[in-house]
Amino acid sequence: MARERIAFGCIAHETSAFSPVPTTIASAEERFGYVRGEDLFTSFRGTNTPVGGFIDGGEHHGFELLPTIYWEAHPGGPLPAADFAALVRELVDRIAAAGAVHGVGAVHGVLLELHGSMVAEGEDDADGAILRAVRRAAGAAPVIVQLDIHSNVSAEMVEHADGIIVRESYPEVDQAERGRECADLMARVLRDGVRPALALAPLPMIWGKNQITAHPPMREAIERLHELEERPGILYASISTCFPLADAPHVGASVSVIADGDRALAQRSADELAAWIFARRADWQTSVPTTAEVLDEIGSTGPYPIVIADSNDNCGGGAPGDSTGMLRTFVERALDDACVLYIVDPQAALACHRAGAGATVRLAVGGKSVPAQGRPVEAEWQVVAVSDGAYTYDGPMNAGLSTTLGPSAHVRTSGVHVIIVTYRDQPFDSALARSLGLHPQRMRYVGVKSTGHFRAHFEPFAGAIRTVNEPSVHDPTQVRYRNLGRPVYPIDPL
Ligand SMILES: [Zn+2]
Repeated sequence: MARERIAFGCIAHETSAFSPVPTTIASAEERFGYVRGEDLFTSFRGTNTPVGGFIDGGEHHGFELLPTIYWEAHPGGPLPAADFAALVRELVDRIAAAGAVHGVGAVHGVLLELHGSMVAEGEDDADGAILRAVRRAAGAAPVIVQLDIHSNVSAEMVEHADGIIVRESYPEVDQAERGRECADLMARVLRDGVRPALALAPLPMIWGKNQITAHPPMREAIERLHELEERPGILYASISTCFPLADAPHVGASVSVIADGDRALAQRSADELAAWIFARRADWQTSVPTTAEVLDEIGSTGPYPIVIADSNDNCGGGAPGDSTGMLRTFVERALDDACVLYIVDPQAALACHRAGAGATVRLAVGGKSVPAQGRPVEAEWQVVAVSDGAYTYDGPMNAGLSTTLGPSAHVRTSGVHVIIVTYRDQPFDSALARSLGLHPQRMRYVGVKSTGHFRAHFEPFAGAIRTVNEPSVHDPTQVRYRNLGRPVYPIDPL
């Protein structure tokens, strides 16, 4: 029997309307490149990524896997209309070409990774637009999508997808696992007569920072999700905590459920879990102290290292990555064995490379993108090590994937160490720092510019973890939404 021809690929972007960092097609070069065709296998086979999971699951089921494109850029501003159109066109053309691979008509299915909170110029719901185009190319073939947990799921996305499976772990260490589930669902639809009926229960709610799935209260939400998935007739259920900075009318948390052949059951089940979440809406919100307040509170007793997360300047949410609030506090407090991962500052990185390892230079570190990110931290910095920023994530997230943050440096001023990088990224792990001779595990204070993903690597050895609020373009006390659907909790008291 001829094997089922399954096209797979990815267009993924988490878009912030408030990021000063522009996004273009070329932004993929600062990530894993714009990967096309057979190169998807080379780049992603065996990696803990959604596409890694599609490949693994697809091969397990014996599909004929037809790679299309992989385009992902670091979170940032909206993609220009022409760039977005070009991406969608290439994806759709390759799906059509994949279908014609043996001159035998359309593909049998499409496995797609989307972020679910992408905005392009003139296209508030870019993921919905991608799925509309993919649906036209795929005809009646099942289209099964993996989304990020920070997805704004729209009615349009649900209309054009047969299945949506959202990552259910934050940090999102389950990317390959959910990708394999997408392939499993594809196999059941094509071979076992399963008829996916997808329903969405959107909530007028922005999920706050309480969404680490290993800890209460989020853990209970995921337990509810699993309990729902055990019920007869339910195939998969998903919670999306949304990405408010996309600032689009369909932004909001949601529950989506796939039932076998029974849309009413899917809708009833989604509505039930959504109501449970909304009744507890205050539980998902937190108030966040400053770095100075956290240092006052924890004193100097340990256990160490204390990991301090500046989530406002998370490049993984589209921030510039050069805010200086946390670093300034570390330097002013003259902390010992303290480090910050990372400060994005191409100019300072270049200066360090010119000076070379061992040199001492007067440097203004960070604070160069926009004033909201704070002023640079000026000091005499010792250049401990420099590198070209190339490294391989050792995970758990992205484990096995190679990347580069461009010219990078490890600098220190008395007891405070900084990893300066050229390209934006959040510290998913400490592999880059270690390649530059900095071992966060041996530090007392580890500052990270990340919201949740850092936990997958740092939590196992952290004595404590605290999230802080520091000045940034994404400081929630400063962001002024213009385009959200209203009312929405907690901006509006519902
Ligand atoms: Zn996410």
